Amino acid sequence: MSKQQLFQFLESAREMPAKVPLEARTSGSFDELYGRFGKAEAEHQAGRCLDCGNPYCEAKCPVHNYIPNWLELVQQGRVIEAAELCHETNPLPEMCGRVCPQDRLCEGACTLNEDFGAVTIGAVEKYITDTAFAQGWRPDLSKVKPTGKRVAVVGAGPAGLACADRLVRSGIEATVFDRYEQIGGLLQFGIPSFKLDKSVIATRRAVLEGMGVRFKLGVEIGRDLAIADLLRDFDAVFLGLGAYRYTDGGLPGQDHPGVLPALPFLVHNGRLVTGRDPQGQPIAGWEDHVPLPELRGKRVVVLGGGDTGMDCVRSAIRLGAASVTCAYRRDEASMPGSAREVGNAREEGVQFLFNRQPLEILAAADGALAGVRVVETTLGAPDANGRRSAVALPGSESLLAADVVIIAFGFAPQAPAWLAELGVQAQANGRLVVGGNGRLPYQTGHDALFAGGDCVRGADLVVTAVQEGRDAAASIARALRGMKAIPSHLQQA
Ligand SMILES: Cc1cc2nc3c(=O)[nH]c(=O)nc-3n(C[C@H](O)[C@H](O)[C@H](O)COP(=O)(O)OP(=O)(O)OC[C@H]3O[C@@H](n4cnc5c(N)ncnc54)[C@H](O)[C@@H]3O)c2cc1C
Ligand code: SF4
Repeated sequence: MSKQQLFQFLESAREMPAKVPLEARTSGSFDELYGRFGKAEAEHQAGRCLDCGNPYCEAKCPVHNYIPNWLELVQQGRVIEAAELCHETNPLPEMCGRVCPQDRLCEGACTLNEDFGAVTIGAVEKYITDTAFAQGWRPDLSKVKPTGKRVAVVGAGPAGLACADRLVRSGIEATVFDRYEQIGGLLQFGIPSFKLDKSVIATRRAVLEGMGVRFKLGVEIGRDLAIADLLRDFDAVFLGLGAYRYTDGGLPGQDHPGVLPALPFLVHNGRLVTGRDPQGQPIAGWEDHVPLPELRGKRVVVLGGGDTGMDCVRSAIRLGAASVTCAYRRDEASMPGSAREVGNAREEGVQFLFNRQPLEILAAADGALAGVRVVETTLGAPDANGRRSAVALPGSESLLAADVVIIAFGFAPQAPAWLAELGVQAQANGRLVVGGNGRLPYQTGHDALFAGGDCVRGADLVVTAVQEGRDAAASIARALRGMKAIPSHLQQA
């Protein structure tokens, strides 16, 4: 690296691709917020990397992407090689480049972050994959030797897709089942288009199908097909079931029709945005749920400050709400999601009320929704996970007026009954138990059943689901070669 290149970060500021103009966003555009780097911009931004000897970005990335190496390839205009390298660690780099909370992961750990602005790692990752796909690049499986083994993957979310990708690269046939009519899991039915355009998922589907992955969609295991059928017809099964048990907070009055659970709201709206008929497509687990109310001109309050909450507030802005307020029970620094998305929400006009805990949903005398009674909080002692609890301040109650309340407190996994019958254990919080003494990583209590992603970790991130699906595929390949788990006394601590 030349001296001039080494100090490029001093001369060039960190820059993200241009955003959709604010006016378009606040008047209903669901277009992906960030545009794409052109060749020159990508090369320039990649050139800001210091190529640290011990790259913290790489360590902090859950899939341990070879970030400085692919940044260097981009700088040299070698985008196809960069795409190859991206895919060595990450089966879905174009998704992660778009939706990872980079400010908490790779970019947050970048040496330049504090004083000069982190390298725009996510945007370059998106540029690499989009450009390579547009140029016709596809993963090369010509050297893969078929093993004759077949694996069923239940769930076409990031965990299932990553697993299927790695299985076919190991010569194992992969058939992916999903109860939904499209692949992607929450990428498709949860995350709004302004964060991830759905054409990106369609491209990935075509790429995976080109690699030989088969999809059987609209099939719910346990309802349309029994797990016993999969165990009979396949050599192993991977479960990437996600986390769909809704946390409603148990607020008095929450059954009021003006109160919406976050996910059906986002899914219904996502279907409208992408031109699919929401009435004809039941939302799995929410079949009886009433359609979306009109939000135009309404005062909307969203309870919860995570990624889901941010997606709800920003969708409500685009749907023409008169005002959108996010109430969160801790302070801003404790918000679990991406600070970048909070900044975007604020820019779009969302009001934030921190240290407010909801107590009950109140109706007016005519039955219409009146709002949410909230109490102010202060931060108390850290809990077992090190998170400081929100402690209510007596006498600080007030009414937060609202026409519509959206509850976005998060999700937890729920182990289906058919798994328990097969000896697959779940913790009290619904998380499937995998690995441990005598088991391969991601192997459940049943030898042929493996699991990963949100159903194992609890609701988390796309990139952690990708990592688990990827690594579960390696375990499955080992198991199918007849390899056993390393006894616990020989495992590394
Ligand atoms: C609104 C929202 C916004 C989010 N935003 C972000 C973000 O910006 N960045 C980020 O990193 N993470 C985000 N997340 C989290 C991220 O989407 C999840 O952590 C990730 O999708 C988990 O992947 P998964 O494959 O484990 O599960 P999922 O994506 O949930 O996929 C599971 C799939 O399994 C299918 N399935 C379940 N049971 C069955 C069955 N019995 N038969 C057939 N199919 C079945 C489901 O239909 C689903 O398609 C967000 C989550 C939500 C809810
Ligand atoms: S996968 Fe996510 S964390 Fe890793 S480099 Fe890409 S954007 Fe950063």
